[in-house]
Amino acid sequence: MTSTNPFFSPSTLPYELPPFADIREEHYLPAFEQGMAEHLAETEAVAANPEPPTFENTIVALERSGDLLDRVSKVFFNRASSDTAPGIQEIEAKVNPALAAHADAVHLNADLYVRIKALYASRTELGLDAEALRLLERYHTRFVRAGAELSEEGRERLKALNARIAEASTAFEQNLFADTKAAALVLDSPEELSGLSADAVAAAAANATALGHDGKYVLSLKNFSNQSELASLDDRALRRRLLEASLGRGLTSNGELTVRLAALRAERAALLGYENHAAYVVADQTAGTPEAVTSLLTRLVPPAVANAEREAAALAAASGLEDFSAWDWAYWSEKVRKAEFDIDTAAMRPYFELDRVLRDGVFHAAGQVYGLSFTERPDLIGYHPDVRVFEVFNADGSPLGLYLGDFFARASKRGGAWMNSLVDQSALTGRKPVVVNNLNVAKPAEGEPALLTYDEVNTLFHEFGHALHGLFSDVRHPFFSGTAVPRDFVEYPSQVNEMWVTRPEVLAHYARHHETGEPMPAELVARMEDAERFGQGFRTVEYLAAAVLDWAWHTIPAGHDPGDAEEFEAAALKEAGLALPAIPPRYRSTYFAHIFAHGYSAGYYSYIWSEVLDADTVEWFKENGGMRRENGDVFRRELLSRGGSVDPMAAFEGFRGRAPRIEPLLARRGLTG
Ligand SMILES: [Zn+2]
Repeated sequence: MTSTNPFFSPSTLPYELPPFADIREEHYLPAFEQGMAEHLAETEAVAANPEPPTFENTIVALERSGDLLDRVSKVFFNRASSDTAPGIQEIEAKVNPALAAHADAVHLNADLYVRIKALYASRTELGLDAEALRLLERYHTRFVRAGAELSEEGRERLKALNARIAEASTAFEQNLFADTKAAALVLDSPEELSGLSADAVAAAAANATALGHDGKYVLSLKNFSNQSELASLDDRALRRRLLEASLGRGLTSNGELTVRLAALRAERAALLGYENHAAYVVADQTAGTPEAVTSLLTRLVPPAVANAEREAAALAAASGLEDFSAWDWAYWSEKVRKAEFDIDTAAMRPYFELDRVLRDGVFHAAGQVYGLSFTERPDLIGYHPDVRVFEVFNADGSPLGLYLGDFFARASKRGGAWMNSLVDQSALTGRKPVVVNNLNVAKPAEGEPALLTYDEVNTLFHEFGHALHGLFSDVRHPFFSGTAVPRDFVEYPSQVNEMWVTRPEVLAHYARHHETGEPMPAELVARMEDAERFGQGFRTVEYLAAAVLDWAWHTIPAGHDPGDAEEFEAAALKEAGLALPAIPPRYRSTYFAHIFAHGYSAGYYSYIWSEVLDADTVEWFKENGGMRRENGDVFRRELLSRGGSVDPMAAFEGFRGRAPRIEPLLARRGLTG
């Protein structure tokens, strides 16, 4: 076993791309077990070193430790998200609590902390350069936040809490996966799907076949409350069924888990000396204090609700319905968009063919702004046949890293879109970055083109912004690599990359009809931008409602019982002025995986927080002549290449020349009134 497990030695493939062709399910668990054992032994050796602590024999030694564990973790968790299987889920359920216990064993090693604390106390006398000094400070903070200053008894309590939290998060995620699958709508005839495009109907038929319902039509649920089909299904009763199926996810299986997770996190925060979990989380974010977050959210709610109410009135009037409801919103919004702005979002899709958007849009923009070029490497194998591998080069032809694209939805993939790092850049290890983007584009029938919606085009540019953050990383220590920045900063570079979607010179390049090659008519583009502003009320409110829910769950004090999940949720929305029956939160609590399973607890505010920086940065590009290599070079040098190696807000101010301003965000979202 030892000699054949591909995780046990570094990959010999270009860029240390994991040897996916050799990796099988039975390799994961032994690699995790040995990886944790090796890492623990390495950290214990650092702690037991008889020499007095130095930066090199303590901090750098820790940076070099845990290689095997890192290799298997990156591959496994990517696989668990994008191509899971019953066996993978079993491993996940075993490994998550083991990893939480392992992290505690490292961070709560008293001898190790004594060395870090001693170095930290003399940090200004060690002759460290800026990155090394910051690394030492970050290690100290990380250990303190992980409980290193607690008494022996406190440390034991913390370990028990961490284990229960890890277990409950895994259960939440697995229940949600099962529930989402089970809540798919199975329909008998294509007539029921009236309103959907022919290829969407074909995709529903293919989906049915894949799920064992040959000859039927299956609408599988995607992450959000609002399902994309709601915009076009003519049958109002079916729209209602679809939305209710979506909103009902997790109500029976995850209600108790959300309450338990919130209570456990509150208890852990109190143990670590914080008023609540949100205070604990944001102390280490750019926001700093819960008040800063509350103040931004409460500032945005009234104008966003006013916009949404105007939109609701217009839609209700257009529909002529006495009981205009949540399941009518997207449908009538589409009709009004068509009537008022002459925009038919379905008619736009033929101009957004996936491969063209990728090469002539996303890659082209990265070429214009940063001088990058891309070569597909069919000789390099991904973890699934749908995965494509591209080698990325700098303007001078030097190799930068690998970019993997996994764009299609499948039953084994979780919803949403995201970026993962498979190999972290670091000068210390000599590694170049390997990153992957995952999307959930419906896979077209054999031989048909994959046509994207406008939202999916945006998502592709967004996720590629995260990929650039990983690819441009130019740091010494793995701790700081790529996207290892505070969560309320990490969405900033990805949002900035969305600006190229509608830049005329980029759009003209990629938005061409997949059959005729005709460019998308210029006036359609202009109308599209106008139409984008219509609907901002809805989008801002559904987002804020989710952010407020996250905040409410994570500002409860220790010992407070949140009671029933649904009642807690309703009360939180009402209190924030966001209980609009026609606009459900983007996620309801029981399927809010971001905060109950994926590490965004007390962090969903990050998207709008980062958008302040994003909108201000778009202004900077405009002020400086837009899409110019010089601008890209500055943004890359000052921001994208730095990872976590500098204070993020200092990096922003260094590049922007001042602190961020909120006005560009308010203008963009129509919130100035
Ligand atoms: Zn993102």
